[in-house]
Amino acid sequence: MRSWCVRVPSCDGERVRQSLIEKGLLNRTCRIRTDGEYLLIPTNEPVDGSLVEEFTCNSEKKVLPRFEQVGGIAIMQEDDTQGAQEILASKSSYHTVLFAESAVEGEFRTKKFTVLAGENRTSTEYTEYGHHFTIDLQQAYFSPRLSGERQRILQMMQKGERVVDMFAGVGPFAITMAEKASIVYAGDLNPGAVILMTRNIQKNHSGNVVPILADAMHLPGIISKQADRIIMNLPLHASPFLPAAFQLCRPGGTIHLYALVKKEDELVDLIHQYPVQDIGMKYVRSYSPDQFHMVYDIITANF
Ligand code: SAM
Repeated sequence: MRSWCVRVPSCDGERVRQSLIEKGLLNRTCRIRTDGEYLLIPTNEPVDGSLVEEFTCNSEKKVLPRFEQVGGIAIMQEDDTQGAQEILASKSSYHTVLFAESAVEGEFRTKKFTVLAGENRTSTEYTEYGHHFTIDLQQAYFSPRLSGERQRILQMMQKGERVVDMFAGVGPFAITMAEKASIVYAGDLNPGAVILMTRNIQKNHSGNVVPILADAMHLPGIISKQADRIIMNLPLHASPFLPAAFQLCRPGGTIHLYALVKKEDELVDLIHQYPVQDIGMKYVRSYSPDQFHMVYDIITANF
């Protein structure tokens, strides 16, 4: 393929390449090549002193349809079998491509999926900051999007804390917190989630995580001693569980309340109905054009 290009001494090549990129003039479809002690750098259009030379093409990288990756599974928002085959072929670690037929729904916060390509399954292995999880997207909620949050809370923790994860799913918060905690009580209402969580506890040798199959409302009656830290990750419906969270938390402890809101301070008045010392607010991620995820870090009153 013929292209305009500039001929520069090899020692100047990188500087000129960068300058062409900045000006939007680098022709990326052609490969830079040597010409004796010079480099020929292809350009999109004629520039000062340019010439026309023959080049080999860069093989064009295929643009894949949009998808989210969880372990060996790629999740598409479109029912596109051809695109699914292309995604499956793009990386050897993908074993399945799913189409998410629904948004998260029901008490267990799961989605409905159909398999578009690859193996007929919704389970996979997922690794996050050295922790290994078996997940099954049809059976129990899981999202890698809160991995940063799990690390943020881990950094905030003191060694030896007692933790309660009220909506623990397959255990990503609980197993991460277990690194520093003396004990983590991890509850969930979904038996499928608790079975997977138990497997993940074994897998990560997190013997200080206690899985509990229970409605979070009942946890104050099950866990006798108050905890230093409570995780509330049920963003659409967590507010009715605040009385239970305050019961579970020691005075001066911390409750991390995840919520889906339209305004940053939407839940502040509600939280102030409880004995509170301080509320930290942090934007987590967007959800829809007018809603986003927030986390309220609530320090409970010292009495
Ligand atoms: N914390 C987990 C994570 O980050 O992957 C799971 C979060 S998911 C958004 C919420 C979880 O709460 C689901 O696993 C669901 O089964 C559980 N759940 C819903 N209502 C509950 C309740 N009343 N009591 C206990 N768990 C509940």
